[in-house]
Amino acid sequence: MMALVSIVPIIVAGFLTIWSIVVSHRENVARLEGAVIEEIYSELNGFMYNNVNAIRIIITFENEAARKEGGVQYKDQVNLVTRFFGSNTPLNFEEVSLISLEGIETVRFTKDYPSGVSFEDLRDQSGVYKFTAAKSRENYVSDVYYTLRGPMVTVSAPTTDKEGNIFFVISGELNLSYFKNIFKEKKLGDAGYAYLVDKDGFVIAGLGDDPPMASLKNLGLVRSLVAGKNFIGLEKQQRYKNFFGETVVAAGKFLPEYSWGLVVEWPAKEADATINDILYKNILVLLAVVVGVVFASVILSARIVKPIRKLEQGTERIAEGRFEEEIKIKTGDEIQELGEAFNKMMLGLKRLEELKDEFVFIAAHELRTPVAAMKGYLSLILDGTTGVIGEKTKDFIRKVVHANDRLVQLVNDLLEVSRSEAGKLTIKVSSIDLTGAIHDVLTELEKMAEEKGVEIIHEVLPNMPKVLADPDRAKEVLVNLVGNTIKYMGGSGKVNIFHEVEGNMLITHIKDTGLGMSEEAQKKLFEKFYRVATDKTREITGTGLGLFIVKEIMEKMGGKVWAYSEGDGKGSTFSFSLPMA
Ligand code: ADP
Repeated sequence: MMALVSIVPIIVAGFLTIWSIVVSHRENVARLEGAVIEEIYSELNGFMYNNVNAIRIIITFENEAARKEGGVQYKDQVNLVTRFFGSNTPLNFEEVSLISLEGIETVRFTKDYPSGVSFEDLRDQSGVYKFTAAKSRENYVSDVYYTLRGPMVTVSAPTTDKEGNIFFVISGELNLSYFKNIFKEKKLGDAGYAYLVDKDGFVIAGLGDDPPMASLKNLGLVRSLVAGKNFIGLEKQQRYKNFFGETVVAAGKFLPEYSWGLVVEWPAKEADATINDILYKNILVLLAVVVGVVFASVILSARIVKPIRKLEQGTERIAEGRFEEEIKIKTGDEIQELGEAFNKMMLGLKRLEELKDEFVFIAAHELRTPVAAMKGYLSLILDGTTGVIGEKTKDFIRKVVHANDRLVQLVNDLLEVSRSEAGKLTIKVSSIDLTGAIHDVLTELEKMAEEKGVEIIHEVLPNMPKVLADPDRAKEVLVNLVGNTIKYMGGSGKVNIFHEVEGNMLITHIKDTGLGMSEEAQKKLFEKFYRVATDKTREITGTGLGLFIVKEIMEKMGGKVWAYSEGDGKGSTFSFSLPMA
C-alpha cells in the first residue's frame, strides 16, 4: 500500500513530464519543418517573380521608351530581347516570345537562336491558352513538363504601358532546374530534406540530382497535399515510410499559384534522437526513483507493520484468555510506547481475570456448604422427621428442593470451571474399561431416562479396548453428554452409544434423536456459558457450563470432543476420542 501510494504519483508525474517533453519536442520539430517550408516557399516565389514579372517589367519599361519615339518597331523588340538574353540577368528562360494582340508571334528568341528564329518558324498563337490567359491580364503558369534540360513550365504575362493598356503578350519556357540549388541548400539537421512535386506527384526538384521519375502520389501525404491540403503544425504532422523505406516525420504545404506541393521529410531516427536521449535518461531516473521508493517503503512498512502484527497477535492471545506473553517492540517511537501501554493493559486484564476467578471460586466454595445443608434439612422435612406437614407444604418444599438441586449443579459447575482455569483440575489417568463406566452412568440416569421416555442402547465392540482416562472424570463427561441427550430430547426418543477405533484412539459416539442444533450453535457449543436459545430449549434449565467442562477434561486427558447435527430438530451426535491403553 505504502509503496503504491508513493509510486503511483511518481510514475504519473514521470509520465506527465515525459509526455510534455514529447509534445513540446514534436511541436519543435513541426515548427522547424514549417520554417524550412516557408523559407523554400519564399525562395520559390522569389524565383518565379523574378523570372515572370521581371521580364514583364523590363519589357514594359523598354517598350514604353520606344513607343514615345513613334511606336514599337520590330527592331526595337529584337534589340530589347537580345539585350535581355545577352545580359547577365539570372533569368532561366529557354525561350521567350512576343505575341501581338492578334495572337501572332512576332519574334521568338531561344538559347540556340539568341538572335531570333527565322520568320517561317513563328506561329499563330491566337487560340492557345497561354495567349488568351495573358491577354485577359492574367499571369499564366502551365503544368510542369519534363525535358532533357530539366523540368519546365510555360509562363505568359501581359505587357502594359503606364496607363495599363496591354500592347503585347510575352510568353516563355522557363527552366526550373535552378530549384535544385534551393533544395540542396535547405536541409533539416543532417538527414532532413525537402522536395517539390507537381500536381500529379512528379518530383520537380529535391530528392537528389536524379529524382525518381515516377509519381509519388501514393507516398505519405503527397496525394492529399497536391489535392490542396496543408500539413503545417503539430496536429497535421505526419509519420510514414519515405521513398527509401525510412520512417520520417513530415510536413507539407500546397502552393495554390502553381498547384505544386512542397514536402519536408525528416527521418524520425534523427528528429527523435534528442528526445530519445532525454526519454531514455528520464526513464532511467524514474526507474531509479521507483526502485528507491519501493525499497524505502518496504523498509518503512516493515518497521510499522511488524510491530502492528505483534500487537495483533497479542490481542488474539488476550482474546483466548492467555496473558502470559508480553509484547516486545523496540522501535524507539510511539509504536514502542503503544506496545508498552499494551503490556500494561494486559497485566491489568490478567489481574482482573485472576480476581474474577478467585471471586467465583470463593463464592462457589462458600455457597456449597449452605446449599448442601439446605438439601439435607429439606429432605428431613420431606421425610416427616421434623413432624407431619400438609400436602401443599410438601409441594412447595419439593419445588424448593428442585431449585436447590439446580443451585447445587451451578455451584459444582462453577467450582469445576474455576479449578480448570486455575489449572487445578486434577486428573489421574489410568487404563480403564469404558464399558463399565458407561454401564454405571446409564444406571445412574436410568430413572430420568425412563421418566422422559428415552431409550438408550449401548453397542459394545466385540473386543472393546481399554482406554487411558481418569475414571471419575470419564464418568463426569459421560453423565454430561448422556444427560444432555435426555435433557434436549424434546420428548421421547432414542439414544445410541457406539464406538469405533481410529489409529490408536477409541472414539465414542452418542447419537440422539433429539432437538439437534443449527450450524452456528455447533460452532459455539463448547464455549463457556453458551446455551442454544430456541423456543424449545428456553424452558430447559441449565448453566451452559457442562460442555465447557467436558472439553477441558477431555483435552487434559489427551482426547477430543466434538458435536455434529444436521440442523434444528434433526438430532445430534456428540463424540469423544480417548487414547487406547
Ligand atoms: P446446559 O445444558 O447447562 O445448558 P451445556 O454446556 O451442557 O449446558 O450445553 C450447552 C447447550 O448445548 C445447551 O444449552 C443445549 O442447548 C445444547 N445441547 C447440549 N447437548 C445437546 C443435545 N444432545 N441435543 C441438543 N442440544 C444440546
